[in-house]
Amino acid sequence: MRRLFIGRRPSSVIISLFVSAACLFLCGCAGAGSAQTVEFFAMDTVMRVTTYGKNARAAAQAAQAEVTRLDALLSVEDPQSEIYRLNAAGQAELSGETAALLHAALDITEMSGGAFDITVYPLMKAWGFFSGDYAVPGEDELRELLALVGSDKLIFEGERLNFGLPGMGIDLGAIAKGYASDRAAEVLAENGVSHAMISLGGNIKAVGTSPEGRPWRIAIRDPLDAEAFAGIVLVSDMAVVTSGGYERYFERNGTRYHHILDPESGMPAQKGLLSVTIVCPSGTLADGLSTALFVMGEADALAFWHAHKELFDAVLVTDDGRTLVTSGIAEAFSTEHGFEVVR
Ligand code: AMP
Ligand code: MG
Repeated sequence: MRRLFIGRRPSSVIISLFVSAACLFLCGCAGAGSAQTVEFFAMDTVMRVTTYGKNARAAAQAAQAEVTRLDALLSVEDPQSEIYRLNAAGQAELSGETAALLHAALDITEMSGGAFDITVYPLMKAWGFFSGDYAVPGEDELRELLALVGSDKLIFEGERLNFGLPGMGIDLGAIAKGYASDRAAEVLAENGVSHAMISLGGNIKAVGTSPEGRPWRIAIRDPLDAEAFAGIVLVSDMAVVTSGGYERYFERNGTRYHHILDPESGMPAQKGLLSVTIVCPSGTLADGLSTALFVMGEADALAFWHAHKELFDAVLVTDDGRTLVTSGIAEAFSTEHGFEVVR
């Protein structure tokens, strides 16, 4: 159960000749009469599951129940959750599911050279991102907190996890929604649904094709304008996950501080990217990598894609106004602005 996401990117990113008609997800104008949508709040965000076909309503409700279960398991703020209790005690015997997700996170940490690291918990707490009581930590405080960051300090003995140092903690916020989208898709499949759109606070999992057999049209938000699109990507059976500094931030003395931290500096990552979108079959991997590549910045993110292009594709929006699209999805991508294809 160690590898949750490994798999090749299938060639199911389809180029549609029916773009103008295939606006199911974007405009919610589904033609199939049996569309059912459940909308609910979990993992600190609005979630929406739209299903089609015979068992659509019961399936969507089962997917909702699964996401709610995972919120209660993985939340850093719920005193009943496994992660909360682990962080409070500094050690725990993990459930098999949590252990598998932690190992998936550790794999991404290793792949990304530490750009992604779930041990940012003490930093997130000090910045006030859990409580909403925001603060900019001073240099000395940051230095002390950084000593508690680093997945290499986690000690595993089978499924027992010990933190190497008191004060450490883990935060699965960068991967939990992606994992939940994978599980929700599995629950839909178990309930006989083969066309669905799962949107967990912008973490998209497109299940199958649209009910008419066309690719889903997924809009990627313009990071500078919540009303505008950076582009549209056509996908089938694929996760599309975006990370951006605009999602959660506060301002102090005219400076904006966002929620994606560079585990090396303890500061919000500021390497020239406004958003990173990952397209690949696994929501877990897409979620982890969107955070990782955002932290890396353009040059390292592109080098990383070149080294792992069999696993995923990406859309990067830079702070100097460029949109970069990796070659595997270039033909499935469209935008009103220009874009550069990365080969
Ligand atoms: P996402 O929106 O998927 O990019 O995840 C951002 C969330 O992941 C933050 O709100 C934190 O909970 C957590 N986080 C922040 N920085 C990192 C990082 N460098 N590696 C892993 N998790 C992080
Ligand atoms: Mg993420």
